[in-house]
Formats: sequence, structure tokens, C-alpha cells
Amino acid sequence: MRDCVENIDDDNFFAKKRHKQHYKRPIEYPFKESELKTTTIIFGGLTWKHEILLKASFENLGYLCDILPNPDFESLQIGKEFCDPGLCNPVYFTFGALIKYLKKLEASGIPKEKIIKNYVYLTAGSCGPCRFGMYESQFRIGLNNAGYTGFRVIIFQQNEGLDQVKEEYALKFNHDFFLRILGSFILADILNDVAYQYRPYEIETGSVDKALKETIDKAYLNLKIIEYPSIIKKLSKLAEKQFFPNYLLLLLKIVYFYYCKEYNDIPKDFLKRLKRINYNFFKIKPIVKVTGEFWAQTTESDGNLNMHRFLEQNNAQVIPEPLSNWIMYILHQSRYIKQLYISNNFKSTKLLSKNAKSIIKELVGIIIIRILEKLMMLFYNHFRKKLNKIPFSLPSQDKLRFLSKKYYNPLIEGGEGHLEIGKTLYYSLNNLCHMVISLKPFGCMPSTMSDGIMSSILNHNNNVLFSSIETGGEGIINMYSRVLMTLNEAKEKAKNEFEQFIKKNNIDINQITNGYKHNFFPFRKKGEKKNILFSIKYIEKSLN
Ligand code: SF4
Repeated sequence: MRDCVENIDDDNFFAKKRHKQHYKRPIEYPFKESELKTTTIIFGGLTWKHEILLKASFENLGYLCDILPNPDFESLQIGKEFCDPGLCNPVYFTFGALIKYLKKLEASGIPKEKIIKNYVYLTAGSCGPCRFGMYESQFRIGLNNAGYTGFRVIIFQQNEGLDQVKEEYALKFNHDFFLRILGSFILADILNDVAYQYRPYEIETGSVDKALKETIDKAYLNLKIIEYPSIIKKLSKLAEKQFFPNYLLLLLKIVYFYYCKEYNDIPKDFLKRLKRINYNFFKIKPIVKVTGEFWAQTTESDGNLNMHRFLEQNNAQVIPEPLSNWIMYILHQSRYIKQLYISNNFKSTKLLSKNAKSIIKELVGIIIIRILEKLMMLFYNHFRKKLNKIPFSLPSQDKLRFLSKKYYNPLIEGGEGHLEIGKTLYYSLNNLCHMVISLKPFGCMPSTMSDGIMSSILNHNNNVLFSSIETGGEGIINMYSRVLMTLNEAKEKAKNEFEQFIKKNNIDINQITNGYKHNFFPFRKKGEKKNILFSIKYIEKSLN
């Protein structure tokens, strides 16, 4: 300001300002096919289960790859040091984890030039009303500031569908790539879901995690070696020469993944391992659904104050958020906008005749998206069945929109859009949980909007227990005690539910069990409306 005032009379002042150079995106060299055998793709930011299965899928496609370490508070500080101020903390955490990884490589003796040449970072990109669209450039700015100028950041656009191929580039965002990503996500989602359901009841601490680790290790090997049968390979070659239709080839590949042993064996393997564990289902645990901003609700790290573990340590059972839900949301948004466009045009015959061509185009788009949605659900439910239908089914996106529409315009995108509201209502009103916790980075715009709306939801629905937490890495004790306050209410709710059930059915617990060591019991999810406590379900089963 002083500089501005002192120079205000200086004739050259404005001229000097005008000559400041416009920002230009630094030139970045592509990751070329010729570098395939020497370049490692690094990625991270998901749960370790999702990351290991993704790694297997990438390796199966012929890429060298590695996973970033789980982001911690040190990563947050590194991110803040090198990136611009005022950004969302998922950038700081994930960028910091990347720099830590690169520094470790350097410390192991690999020169910086080689690191820049032989490693690339892969992440999802998007343009949007919130700050997600700036992540890519922030990574580049931060890498430049940290001395890794020229380090390549590769983006696949989450809204641009299943084919983003650029011929000369090594990383092909094609059907094979996305089919494997989806397969890894679905498998990791359902395994994760089931582990979260049974871990709180294990008698020997760590036994469910051990079983999960062993299944994920097996899944890693399965996904890494999976191969198309020779007929699909031959048809792929024909399709490359355009002698066979690509969509038919895609269909065959989908059918193959649906039935292949390598995928189908994984849920079965986990079930087998869970059956060997002893549980105590009479522990009364309130069920807590985690929602919030995409990264903050997913990560199992300092990035969300390790909230999943914190809740479990404080006697809660957690419902984690499946990544597949996010994919369903992206599909839904694109279909919904098309639906609106068509219904708007149906308001007058003039509009109808004027826009007939584009209406047909959007209609075809809707049909394609519908097919993709159905396929996604089909796969998810197929693997759920292999796990005795224990994992929660994916909520219908139309239902989530319908529930939240009164409070949040579904056309407002960015972050989780209307999903935070929709999920809070869906899980609470369908009695699928006792409490909802929303995790959000400091200053996250879409989550802050949802929080603002939440007070009217709480006014309209006595049944909703809700806590919202900012995961900025500061005030941790305050955040934990806020969670505990709501969790105590949820515990009270769960305890009342149990006592009422015992009283109503005149049950003497000692008569229906020999102590508190129980064998595995499949808690199936069938649109539950009444009792959700595992202890009640277990007693109901013992009485039948
Ligand atoms: S959703 Fe929130 S945290 Fe994520 S990029 Fe947007 S503003 Fe930032």
C-alpha cells in the first residue's frame, strides 16, 4: 500500500504495472510411450485398500507405479509452505505427501533430474465452481517452488467419460483403464464396508484388519495377473483396425469382468476369513454414517483427524462412504441436466420443433448414461451378493436428489453438491444409522453451504443427529470433543433401542447365549426400517 501511495505520482508507475508478464502455464513434457518402461506413475489420497487394488490394475495394464504415503500433519505443513495460501487442505495434504515421497527418493540417492524425468504424478481433475479446478495448477506451482520444476502432473478429467485417449501418450485413458479403475473401486468399497461393520465386534483386536489385509494381498495378485481370454484379445486387434465394433468389444470385456474368477474370488475369500473370527455382538454400538467433502470423508489419515478410527475407539460402528457413490453421482448429474433440458423443451411445441435435433441427441445421452448406471449397480450388487449381501447397497441417486431438493438445488455443483444433505436424510430417515458426521476441510465452500442448511433440516426432523467437523489440522481436541458430545447422544439412542427391544420381547439374554463369544453372523441389508443394532439382530436370529 505504501509503495502504491509513494509511487502514485510517478508517471512510470502504471506503465511498469502494465509490463508485468501475464501468467503462462509452464511447458510440461508429455509422458510418452517410449518412457513406459522407465517412468513410474505415483498416486495417492485414497484409502490403502483402494490404492493397492488400483496399483494392481495399473501394473496389469503395463505401467510402473507406486503409492504415496498416507498424508500426515507434516505433509500439511509442507503443502502450506510451497502452495499458494488460502487453498483447501486436501491440496496441502496430498501435495505435501508427494513432496515427502520425492524427498525420500532423493535421500535414497536418486538425483533430482532423474526423479523429474522418471516419475509422474497422476490425479483426477475437474473444472468447477469450487477450488477443485485449481488443484492441478497448484501442484505445478508447488512443485516449482519446491525445486522440482518440470515434474509432470497428469490429469484425467472425471467428467469426460470413458475415452480420453491421446495417441502419442503412454497413459491411455481408455475403456481398459476405466474398467479396471471401476473394478478396483467396487471391490475395495465392498471389502471396506464389511470390515467396518465387523471390526467393532471382534474379540481379538486386529483380527478383522488382518483378514482384510490378507484378502487385499490376494486381490492385488489376482488383479495384477488378470488377462483377457484369447478371443477378446483377437477381437481387440480387429477393433484396432476397425473390423470389429468397439462397443461390442467393450460389452464383451464387461461380461468378462463380471464372471472372471480373479474378481469373484475376492469377496468370497474375505467372507471365508471373517468366518474364522470370534465376535461379541452384544456390544451396543451406535452406527455413525460418515459424509462430507469427498476427500475429507474418504481418507483414513491426519487429513480428517483419523476420524474413522477415533469413532471406533469410542465405541461406534462406522459406515464409510464408498467411492462408487461418487461415480454414480457424476453419472446422475449429467443425466439430470439432460432430463431437465428435454422437459423444458416439452413446454411448447415451438421449442420442440426448434430443438428437435438436440433433444434426440440428449435422449440418446440419457439412454447411454442409464445403461452405465445400471451396469455400475449390477456390478456392485453382484459383488455384494458374493459377500452375502452384507455391504450396504448404493443409495439411489434419484432418491438422494429428491430428498435434498427441498433444501439444496441439485443443479448447484462443486464438492459433493446436494449429496451431503441427501445422504444425511437418507441414512437418518431410513433408520440406517444413529448419527451422521460430516467431515470437511477448513473453508470448503460446498460443505459450508450444506452446514448452513442443516439447521433447518434438524428443525424439521427430530430424528436426525448430526455433527459437522472442520479438519484443518488445528483445534483437534475441540473437534474431538464436539464429536463426542453428539456421539454420546447417539449412544443413548442405541441403548434405549436395545432396552426397549429386550423389554418388549421379555428376553433374558443369558438364556439365549452361552457367554459372549459369537460365531460369524451375516447381517444382511434389506431396506431396514426398524432395528439396526447388531445386538438386536443377533438376538432376533437366535430366537428364530
Ligand atoms: S469441495 Fe471443498 S475442499 Fe474440495 S476443492 Fe471444493 S472447496 Fe475445496
